[in-house]
Amino acid sequence: MSQLSNRRTFAIISHPDAGKTTLTEKLLLQGGAIHLAGEVKARGQARRARSDWMKIEQQRGISVTSSVMTFERGGITFNLLDTPGHEDFSEDTYRTLTAVDSAVMVIDAAKGIEPQTRKLFEVCRMRSVPIITFINKVDREGRECFSLLDEVADALALDVSPMSWPVGMGGQFQGILDLATGHVSRPEGDSREFLGKIDIDPELPVEVAEEVELASVGYPAFDIEAYRHGDLTPVYFGSALKNFGVAELIDAIAKYAPPPRPQPSEAGEIAPERDEVTGFVFKVQANMDPQHRDRIAFMRMVSGTFKRGMKLTPSGLGKPIAVHSPILFFAQDREIADTAQAGDIIGIPNHGTLRVGDTLSERNEVRFTGLPNFAPEILRRVQLKDPTKTKQLRKALDDLSEEGVIQVFYPEIGAQWIVGVVGQLQLEVLVSRLEAEYKVEAVLEPAPFDTARWLKGAPDALKTFADFNKTNLARDRDGDPVFLARSAWDVSYQQERHPELAFGAVKER
Ligand code: GDP
Repeated sequence: MSQLSNRRTFAIISHPDAGKTTLTEKLLLQGGAIHLAGEVKARGQARRARSDWMKIEQQRGISVTSSVMTFERGGITFNLLDTPGHEDFSEDTYRTLTAVDSAVMVIDAAKGIEPQTRKLFEVCRMRSVPIITFINKVDREGRECFSLLDEVADALALDVSPMSWPVGMGGQFQGILDLATGHVSRPEGDSREFLGKIDIDPELPVEVAEEVELASVGYPAFDIEAYRHGDLTPVYFGSALKNFGVAELIDAIAKYAPPPRPQPSEAGEIAPERDEVTGFVFKVQANMDPQHRDRIAFMRMVSGTFKRGMKLTPSGLGKPIAVHSPILFFAQDREIADTAQAGDIIGIPNHGTLRVGDTLSERNEVRFTGLPNFAPEILRRVQLKDPTKTKQLRKALDDLSEEGVIQVFYPEIGAQWIVGVVGQLQLEVLVSRLEAEYKVEAVLEPAPFDTARWLKGAPDALKTFADFNKTNLARDRDGDPVFLARSAWDVSYQQERHPELAFGAVKER
């Protein structure tokens, strides 16, 4: 097997409480878990100096920052990129999905598709990210399998192909049937966990045999091409808590999920086989120590073999930087700790030179495209407590928008800047980081706008529109025009009146 085909870079998407954390732990236990990004940082730096923003994480018991977890099994290296599962997610979550080649969608068997599952799924669809579905918690009373499968198919407009089937649920739970082999994995002991007992000649209850019969004719057979195009999802039933279906899930990722995929660039797709090291920054994380302004830029490797000390040129900077102390997330085997391949993630410490969306490469010819900004769902006006701090505020807002914590909009009229987020939690993070890291006290006031859209069109048409709608016009941090709308209705109204303009809900950089 070539080194390239043994990487699987993926994320888990789910609604809070569906069982992502539990599943992640089980995946890491089954593979040899190597590094948790959080640990890497905590070891090197003083724990006392965590900023308030970290306190929010601790207090609320949630993870604001995405991290990278790597494990190995059967000769395959799995890079699992964590996406915060809290309802108040940030753009981080979305952007992380641009750095994976596939995703696992975890669904609670009692709840089916929930709002967050759907949102994250839509992002995957935008980039044709293939999805394996894991219907979790079958050890508890759940909904009927057919209704769950049909809901996935209908709500997400996907073909579904069941790969396993629960033999009873809740109190009746007797195990999981592997539809390909006909084997049933059975619970054992008081905990009713899966401890490895496989029944190769099971006698199925009549109603389960009937269900399986119906399922085999009612749903399409698994087709790897359809899966990899994002048109079909194989569905596994299981229980993360009781360890049912976890090994099968890892095997499925190893067997079916794509190895590193080519990535879109201005000059066409860049293949992982390209000899030059290329990659893009999908996330920037500030140092936990507010005294130090350094950050870690997370780069997804697209091609080449990275070696410690290598010089790479960031597209935003134009001159090469030497990457002496990268954080590599797969260092179980010390011998490979100094190199990284396509599909791997490298953490690059820097002092704010690297921005989300930047391309890094050896020859400075490639520019990756398609890292999205999403239309904010909450807009707030930033009000300074001390008006002499305008300059610091501007710097802070620019920095934090580069990190993807918030988006910032500078209105054409008026001096009050507007920040946009997709989740409430981002606002708390913003206020506490402004204070802790920039010594700027600010309050966020309701803005007279509800959402924003990126405007595109011929220069004349844009200008005419802008002249008529000055109070609703702003520029984002790249200077691109943005329409600030009072409501969703306002957006569709303007859209109808101005077919010559595009009102984008997503901006691809
Ligand atoms: P997350 O919010 O998606 O990360 O969900 P967690 O992994 O924290 O799980 C939420 C709750 O569901 C916890 O109380 C878990 O113990 C429970 N849970 C997770 N997986 C299972 C499962 O397979 N069966 C049962 N019965 N409970 C589960």
